[in-house]
Amino acid sequence: MPRQAIHSYLNRHGFETLQPKAVLFDMDGVLFDSMPAHARSWASVCTRFGLHISAEEAYMNEGRTAASTINLLTERQWGRKATSQEIEQIYAEKCKAFNTCPEAPKMPGAEELLTKVKASGLQILVVTGSGQLSLLERLESHYPEFFSADRIVSSKDVHHGKPHPEPYLKGLEKAGVRPWEAFVVENAPLGVRAGVAAGIFTIAVNTGPLPDKALADEGADLIYPSMRSLAENWETLLAACRS
Ligand code: MG
Repeated sequence: MPRQAIHSYLNRHGFETLQPKAVLFDMDGVLFDSMPAHARSWASVCTRFGLHISAEEAYMNEGRTAASTINLLTERQWGRKATSQEIEQIYAEKCKAFNTCPEAPKMPGAEELLTKVKASGLQILVVTGSGQLSLLERLESHYPEFFSADRIVSSKDVHHGKPHPEPYLKGLEKAGVRPWEAFVVENAPLGVRAGVAAGIFTIAVNTGPLPDKALADEGADLIYPSMRSLAENWETLLAACRS
């Protein structure tokens, strides 16, 4: 399966080889099991402001900046974009709600995968739409051997959030590698779209409630059911790149 996926990736982009030197990890739903709390926080805060977002919608729109998510809802329900004051207010409330949720646990299998990636000599970076300090700090405190501030691309580093390719292009730049020298690991459809648009081999891990089709439709090169499963298949994947 990886071999076939690599073959079609190379054909599609006109690249000759896939030689991973860096792995660009998304954070929510990949390194932390934080998506249920995000979805719940969005739903409860939006209701308070007279807006509606279903859990499925929260997952489908994961990766968007807060402003873009809020505008999506106000355009649909109020027929206009939100004012910057409304965005600020709703987002502040959403962050407050999220921060009262129990701490999101590390995603099962993530540490195992990071250990293998590091042992393989590849660089490890995080590319996240989040700008929440609490989560970025948690990254350094929960995965201290793997991340440092200069290995993180957050919403503060980009003009356009996912699904725009800019965050992943920034990640490539930080790592000093080209698209065929990296993997993206993503759980969200829009994150997959961003990775694919950046020309990077994009691995989806379906850690949420959406069907695999939602990830396949955005062009995911490979789909695994969990981070643990990707960790178990890491050697096979690297071997497929070398053959
Ligand atoms: Mg995610």
